[in-house]
Amino acid sequence: MRHSFLFVLLFLGFQALAQQKVSYSIQLGKMSHDQLIVEVKPPALKAGPVEYCFPKIVPGTYANYDFGRYISNFKALDASGKELKITKKSVNQYVIKEGQKIAKISYAVDDTWDSPEIEGEYVFEPAGTSFQADTLFALNTHGLLGYFKGFEKMAIELEISHPKNLFGASSIKSIQKGNKDLFRAQNYQEIVDAPILYSVPDTLTLTLGKSEVLISVFSPNNTINAEQIAEKIVPLLEAQKNYLGGNLPVKRYAFLIVLSEQLKNGNFGALEHAQSSFYYLPEGNIQTLGQTIQDVCAHEFFHILTPLNIHSEEIGNFDFIQPRMSQHLWLYEGLTEYAAHHMQVKYGLTDLGQFMSTIQEKWQTMHMQFNNEIPFTEMSKKVLDTHKDQYSNVYQKGALLGFGLDLTLRKGSNGTYGTQDMMRDLAKEYGPNKSFKDDVLFDKLVQITGQAGLADYFKNYIAGKKELPLNAWLNDIGYGLRDKHEANENPTYSLTLGFDFQALSINSESKRVYIGAEPGINEFGKSLDLRAKDELISVNGLPLDISNFVKSTEEFIQKIRVGEVFDLEIARPNGQGGFDIYHLRAPFERTKVDAQNTIYELKNPTEAQLKLRKDWLRS
Ligand SMILES: [Zn+2]
Repeated sequence: MRHSFLFVLLFLGFQALAQQKVSYSIQLGKMSHDQLIVEVKPPALKAGPVEYCFPKIVPGTYANYDFGRYISNFKALDASGKELKITKKSVNQYVIKEGQKIAKISYAVDDTWDSPEIEGEYVFEPAGTSFQADTLFALNTHGLLGYFKGFEKMAIELEISHPKNLFGASSIKSIQKGNKDLFRAQNYQEIVDAPILYSVPDTLTLTLGKSEVLISVFSPNNTINAEQIAEKIVPLLEAQKNYLGGNLPVKRYAFLIVLSEQLKNGNFGALEHAQSSFYYLPEGNIQTLGQTIQDVCAHEFFHILTPLNIHSEEIGNFDFIQPRMSQHLWLYEGLTEYAAHHMQVKYGLTDLGQFMSTIQEKWQTMHMQFNNEIPFTEMSKKVLDTHKDQYSNVYQKGALLGFGLDLTLRKGSNGTYGTQDMMRDLAKEYGPNKSFKDDVLFDKLVQITGQAGLADYFKNYIAGKKELPLNAWLNDIGYGLRDKHEANENPTYSLTLGFDFQALSINSESKRVYIGAEPGINEFGKSLDLRAKDELISVNGLPLDISNFVKSTEEFIQKIRVGEVFDLEIARPNGQGGFDIYHLRAPFERTKVDAQNTIYELKNPTEAQLKLRKDWLRS
């Protein structure tokens, strides 16, 4: 027989719960040397060494960031304030030998946006941190908070004291007491999945169906406000709700938006979380920025489906220190990007012309910037190292793969079944806590869609390197893609610097703009001997810096006359890890612009083509 009183169990249970948490505190008002101090109180630890880790990588980013790089002055103190012995195991890992003695850990943190002196991989701003006293604290908490190894599932409390004029917006509702906000989470993954944006409040909350939506905006010159952004987001979320089957799958969602006067690294975008998304965008007004906000918000919100709800084990059992990559970036990023645009055209937020120009741009960019000989599954698996320069192709080829898959499914079901239905069916099998095995996804999709022909689609275009049959896909809905012959019939001419803007990428190490691939170089560029991977330095002495690239080139084109001297200074990789500098010179001339690869509507589409188009767009 075994007998105990229930209240004993409850009592012990409560006590255990009350003790078992990790508490962090940060004082935003107390910055020195642009650093914040983080203090951590551990749970009761057993005798022996314990490891305190900072993430190498975080979910939704497909790059190694090593957030430990931004940590300094790391100390572990016992109850009497004496420093305990620590050893640094790697850039991200600190080992404290006598774990049981730790009363407090403290360290200083630099922000990622503004610490060029810290070497290594550039951290995409939406995944990073920015500390600007009195105006802005962009707190992606994974850039500040570490975890005790083995205690990742333990409850978390984060106390932030802030200057009076700042408000902290986040998907986690804080408990506010004076200038202190308390954020609670069930575990480490949950707290780092909820970025916090402190700024002078331009914030509003709206209710959509059963969901509460928070919008918080930081616009340094007040060129745009939360209300204007809400006007874009509300119809978008309505459409999204319908696209997802009638319900917004979250009770609370936060759009945290930081606008920047100058994009320091030439990049902008956002990062998705389960109940929020964090944006870093160029500052503009609602006219210039409206469509971008709509596109980026649609994309981030759709991540609710994948990878946040539907993902493989690599993503589901996320390892912050030793990440493993999945083969299915085409699904997580590609299909998400496609759905963001398909949803907009389907529910009338954009028109078909706009949709087709998006597809055309993706097709051209894919050819001008990326190596499409690499099977997409392989690129995905090796995106952290070998193929990291190919990552952005997920938004080009990845989205086109989604488009092709949707039309292939529609064609195979007499118009009745598409990727939207496929994702709904997939969600019935898997969920946030039930991951799929990376290797079985293709078979699973064949099975749930009942379309045997999909196996070839996956084999040829996603796991293989066969050229995407975009023209055939477009034909199915009464559109076409101009080939070389058709393009030569009506040539057009234009003034360029020898390359197409869509061919341009940024080298985050050299901080220069470069030409991605050969097809991005036009006839004038070829006559100059411009080559793929050439990095641009100046034109006729005018610097071509990342931050003013567009403006400089526009002004230059307006000023220069045909026949005048044109001198393009470039840095060309010399094959030994360095660069050689060249001046490419020629008299300036007009260039024939390639009309190849442009999309047009067929003049006399058939009944079948029009029917499939209608089915594909039917809401
Ligand atoms: Zn994404």
